[in-house]
Parts: sequence; C-alpha cells; structure tokens
Amino acid sequence: MLAMVLRAARSPLELMERPNPPLRPGQVRVRVEACAVCRTDLHVQAGELPDVPHPIVPGHQAVGIVEEVSGGTRLKVGDRVGLPWLGSTCGVCPYCRGGRENLCDAPTFNGYTRDGGFAEYAVAEADFAIPLERTDDPIATAPLLCAGLIGWRSLLATGTAQTLSIFGFGAAAHLLAQICTSQGRTVYAFTRPGDTPAQGFARELGAAWAGSSNEAPPKPADAAIIFAPAGELVPRALATVRKGGVVVCGGIHMTDIPAFPYRLLWEERRLVSIANLTRDDATSFFPAARRAGVRARTHTYPLRAANEALNDLAAGRIHGTAVLVP
Ligand SMILES: [Zn+2]
Ligand SMILES: [Zn+2]
Repeated sequence: MLAMVLRAARSPLELMERPNPPLRPGQVRVRVEACAVCRTDLHVQAGELPDVPHPIVPGHQAVGIVEEVSGGTRLKVGDRVGLPWLGSTCGVCPYCRGGRENLCDAPTFNGYTRDGGFAEYAVAEADFAIPLERTDDPIATAPLLCAGLIGWRSLLATGTAQTLSIFGFGAAAHLLAQICTSQGRTVYAFTRPGDTPAQGFARELGAAWAGSSNEAPPKPADAAIIFAPAGELVPRALATVRKGGVVVCGGIHMTDIPAFPYRLLWEERRLVSIANLTRDDATSFFPAARRAGVRARTHTYPLRAANEALNDLAAGRIHGTAVLVP
C-alpha cells in the first residue's frame, strides 16, 4: 500500500510503498476513502508534540471501509467507519473507569503514536473505530472526525452558553458555527487582524458578528472557545466573556500565555482546556451534526500531495479543511 510517511521531525512526508501489516485480534483493516488534514498534523510534523515515533504515518480524520476483521467485533466487512484521534485506551486506569477515557494514562493516538490515515489502508482497534452510515459522504465526513469532534467537546464544556465567542475561524470553528446557529445560539467570530476572507466566511456560516481578535464583540459572551494556537488570545477571550463565563482552549498546542491582569479572570470566570475525545462524544456528535445538516467546506488533494496540503494549512490559505484522497 502507499503511505505518506514522516521519517524525521521537521521534514516533508515521503511517499512510500509499504506492506499491509497483519491484524491482531480485535483489529480491523480499513481501506481509506478520505483523510482530512488537521493543525495537529503540523505539530506532529514539527516535533512539537512529545515522543513522536519515527517513521510514522500521520492522519487522524480518516473515513474508510472495513475490508478485513480479526476476532470478535461488532464491525463487519463493508462497514463504513471513521478513525479519529483516539486510537485506543487501556480500559483500566482511573480515567478510563471514571468515564474520562480522553485522559487515559496509556492511550494510543492515530497518526501520532500509531500509524494513521495518510495512506491507502489503516489498521484500527475495532472498538475505537466510529461506525458511520453508508450514506455519509467520505470527503465531507472526514473533517468531522477531529475538527468536528473537538468543536463538539469544546461546546459541551461551555454548558448552556447561548452566546459564544470563537477565536480562530478555521476547520473546527466553521463546523461548530453551523451547529451553534442551527441550535439558535449566537456566534461571534474572531480572526487574525485583517483576515477579511475568514470574517466573511464566518458571516456566511451564520456568525452574528465577525471581526479581528483585538476588537470587542457587540456584547459580552456567555463563553469563549479558542481554536487558534496563540496564547495571547487567552486574555483577549477572557475579556469577551461575562461574569461567570468560561473560556475553553480547544487546541492541543498553544504558544505561551502572556501575563494578564487578575481582573480578567475575577468574577468567577473559568479557564479550561479540553483534551482528546471520548467515544461518547462521537456517539452524541454525529447524529447532532446530521440533524444540523453540517457541511464541511473541503479542499481535496491527492494523497501524494499531502505536503502541499500541510503547507497550505500552515500558511493559512485554507478556509475550511484540506482532505487527502488516496
Ligand atoms: Zn486533529
Ligand atoms: Zn486508561
């Protein structure tokens, strides 16, 4: 099979012919139909996440068809599944047993600590492959597997917030904005100063207001979600939320947060992060996304053009999500 392989940190991916690995019990082999590209793939490539094993096949938003199963699993050959960031958990640590498997002490992650979806085939633990419907379009669904799920988990962390400030209007935000507006919530979208295309994109998707991250929204928001990996947005986001509001950091990596006056946090504002996902998140998310009619804006690239897709993402040239198609 062909795969795009990262052989060392800070190097381009290489197109390689690799043998299909044998399956262990409980695993499935998935023929990848589409795999979306995420900012985290850039962090893996840049060595900004700890202990990336090289060589590694990145990609944690793959949609594909089960072609082979090993051992007892509810999945059948021919099922369409999604392979998200969470590749497996230990099932026995306090987090797994406490319903917080996203914080598992011994997890694996697709495209980070185990080979992911930038390939023609991927091997997954059957229990961690997300069942999809045969009618789900692979290219349109792939971005939901990380950008969509992380946005969903971030939204759950805001509780019943009716008005949301969203910082960084990229892949995750453009999906979440559609869900929020379909649920009758109000979205304020913050972009890099001067990024008028992204602001226009946000308004198209139903944002009530869109502007630069150094502007003030029309009214204080109930909550804010930060998707951009820029620590200086934390005090700015805190400044947009009302008393008792929450600021959720949705990214896996962020630059240092600068010092800020305590008054921004005071009055019971809360600052939290979210990490990874649980399978329960996926169970609640996909029906909600179908109900909201979420449409991912995608730009497709052939698998072998993965480096071009990563470069376009890094340069901010993509409004929506890049998707690799083998
Ligand atoms: Zn991701
Ligand atoms: Zn665990």
